[in-house]
Amino acid sequence: MSAQAKVPFNRDHVERCLCAKCPVQAKSQCVDEKKSGLARVMAHNPLSPADIPGEYCSTGTATCGDLDGSQQCSCFDCPVYEQYSLAEGWPTCYYCMNGLAQ
Ligand code: SF4
Ligand code: SF4
Repeated sequence: MSAQAKVPFNRDHVERCLCAKCPVQAKSQCVDEKKSGLARVMAHNPLSPADIPGEYCSTGTATCGDLDGSQQCSCFDCPVYEQYSLAEGWPTCYYCMNGLAQ
């Protein structure tokens, strides 16, 4: 059975997501490349999850492989995290590495 996202993937959540400023991604060259094209990506409808370095609670493990899991995940401060009570599900954080919130 495939995992089902608790958090719908949409523009509002992407815009409120804190992953873009998270220290886990701060030194990722792969994420930097995705960020440099983000204005163009955000102009498209529908959004392409693979091109957006964030909202992993909805989309699951990051496509970039150079993230630093020794840094602190920012999800606990995110309004989306609170809205969907993600602390009550599993995994509870590091969705970019642990997979989507269920
Ligand atoms: S899921 Fe958590 S650890 Fe991963 S980039 Fe987003 S805020 Fe950082
Ligand atoms: S809970 Fe984490 S992955 Fe989900 S939108 Fe917020 S910062 Fe991004």
